[in-house]
Amino acid sequence: MEKVVVPGEFLGTIEEYVPGQNVIEVNGKIYASLYGILHFDDKHMTINIKPLTNLPIIRVGEVVYGVVSELYNDFALVTIVAIEGVEREIVGGKQDGIIHVSKISDRYVDEVGKMFRIGDIVRAKVIRSKPSIQLTTAEPALGVIKGLCMKCRSPMVKMDNYLFCERCNRKETRKISSLYGNIKIKVKNIP
Ligand SMILES: [Zn+2]
Repeated sequence: MEKVVVPGEFLGTIEEYVPGQNVIEVNGKIYASLYGILHFDDKHMTINIKPLTNLPIIRVGEVVYGVVSELYNDFALVTIVAIEGVEREIVGGKQDGIIHVSKISDRYVDEVGKMFRIGDIVRAKVIRSKPSIQLTTAEPALGVIKGLCMKCRSPMVKMDNYLFCERCNRKETRKISSLYGNIKIKVKNIP
């Protein structure tokens, strides 16, 4: 019996299962990170999703989670891995969203690379879905929710208006979400 799941669909808890391929873990709960077929490996107690190709639908106004994958002068490219809210209709597989430099913050941003770094996990809102997915982080609760130190790749802690690596004793700037540190999210299998 095959069950098709959609991104953001609740699959179980980490007490029950081990997160496997193409799932994400948020606060101990496991969700599908893409559209595909649910596979439960009862030998290892892992949950995996086997990807299906499909026509993606992500709607304007939705809040998504993504990983910053590329930085350009004018925009950051984000690989969307989950949509906030678990009850979902048909949504798409893993896909990219764009955060334009003018949509990063309410304040003027002169350089995308000062606000995001590759590998950061961001919480962003969809402002356009066609022809490409455009995202904004220009709200207090939007922005980076987990940032890794550029030097040692450890997760950093939020200080007043910057992130701090306790290992390297190092400050870095970001567009930081007010929810930084309050959302536990583990993203797997990001290319
Ligand atoms: Zn460091």
